[in-house]
Parts: sequence; C-alpha cells; structure tokens
Amino acid sequence: MTAPPPLELRGVSRTYGEGAAAVRALVDVDLTVTAGELVAVMGPSGSGKSTLLSIAGSLEEPSTGEVFIEGTALSGLGRNERARLRRRHIGYVFQDFNLLAGLTAVENIAMPLELDGVKSRAARRAAGLALADLGLADRADSFPDELSGGQRQRVALARALVGDRRLLLADEPTGALDSRTGEEVMRLIRAACRSGAAAVLVTHDAQLAAWADRVVFVRDGAIVDTTAPLPGPESLLTPRGTDLDEPEGP
Ligand code: ADP
Repeated sequence: MTAPPPLELRGVSRTYGEGAAAVRALVDVDLTVTAGELVAVMGPSGSGKSTLLSIAGSLEEPSTGEVFIEGTALSGLGRNERARLRRRHIGYVFQDFNLLAGLTAVENIAMPLELDGVKSRAARRAAGLALADLGLADRADSFPDELSGGQRQRVALARALVGDRRLLLADEPTGALDSRTGEEVMRLIRAACRSGAAAVLVTHDAQLAAWADRVVFVRDGAIVDTTAPLPGPESLLTPRGTDLDEPEGP
C-alpha cells in the first residue's frame, strides 16, 4: 500500500461572516501535496493564500470540505488530538521567524518536542542534530538576537522539521531576507523535500516560486491554474518564465 500524501484538501471552502457581509475566502479547493513535493501558492493579496495555509495547518477549520494530514481526516479528531497531530506532523515557517527571544537556538528547536512529551535531554539532542543539518551546529547556544536574519530563519526551519515532521508550511519565509540569503533558505527547503518532506510555500515572488515542483495560482479563493510538475531537478534552477517561453515540441 502506498503511503497517504502528507496533505490533501478536498472541496475546502471557508467563509468569514454571514449574509451580505460574508467573505468567501476559499471556494471549493482541492489540493494534494505528495511526499517530496514543493508546491508554491501564488495569488494577489486577499486571494486566500494565508487562509489556505492556516486550514492546511489545522490552525483554522474549513466551513465545508475535508483536510487530510497523512491520510487522517482532521474533522474526525478532537481538539487535543488535532493539537498533537499538528505538533508531530506539521512545521511552520513564517516571514518574521517567530523565535522566542529568551531561548537559545537549540532551546527554540527543542521546544515543540518537549511540548510533545519528549524528555529534555533527548529533545536537545534531536534539536542539536537538526541544527547541524542546517549548518548551524556552532550557534546552538546563541540567542535569536545574536543571529543574522538568515541564521534565524535556518533555526526556524530546524524547529519546523525536527522530530521528522513531514509537512512544512511556509508563509513568505524569505520575505525579510536579502535575495542571496533567501535563496539559501529555499535551497534548504528543497533539501528537506528531497529527504521526503512535503512543503507548501506561499509567496508573491516568482523567482522563489521557480524552486517549486508545481505552482498553484489562487484568485478570489479558488485555484485558477496549476503548472505541471517540472521535468527534472536541473529545471529547478531555471526561472519558470524561461520554461514557459519555450515553444511547444512537435
Ligand atoms: P491572502 O493571504 O491571499 O492575502 P487571506 O487568506 O488573508 O488572503 O484572505 C482572503 C480573504 O478572506 C480576504 O478577503 C480577507 O479579507 C478575508 N479574511 C481573512 N481572514 C479573515 C477573518 N479572520 N475574518 C474576516 N475575513 C477574513
């Protein structure tokens, strides 16, 4: 039996408010993200990208439709079960890093594991390994304000991936970084996907979306277009525009 995909949205809609004032933030969205896949979500401001990410991450519930995380329907879970699934399976990366200023890098990364009941020593060990994976072993005891933006985002990425979490949800993760550092972070997200994670990346930056296997375009809450998966790894380094400009083959 093949493993269920890390993320599946089926017929997901989300409406805020009621009556004439109701806002349909998402309309009948179907989206499956398989292991190893990096999907970029693009669309104008207010099109529903953040809502999609919040619902995928079980931070918000859909009005209708169903979300499956590794085959488990979220609607069938109670509050606590859902929180546990979120801690164990889903990692988040935000534009502003969201690290706790009073904790060192390694403590920030260990925290989700400790919240999940992992003993402090084991959590610290796993956190140290995650940090080393991202090339920051020597900054384990640094506090966030002693790190550069790129280093902070790498810590946040380690925190999102520690404990073998398989679904990475990233909201403009390079928005606060210069382009070279942003590219480094994208490279690490790609590497996480190569080791089996699935990632959803919300971005308005076409350069960054070019790192994705697929780009999903959202408008007025609906998916209006999806690019086909790119043919090979080398194309990940090619801006997508160049692909599209090529004439169709015979
Ligand atoms: P994006 O991330 O693409 O900018 P959002 O998902 O934030 O879009 O928003 C989609 C639509 O839903 C917008 O019209 C926004 O105003 C509305 N919306 C988002 N969150 C809420 C909320 N908590 N209450 C009411 N309306 C909301």
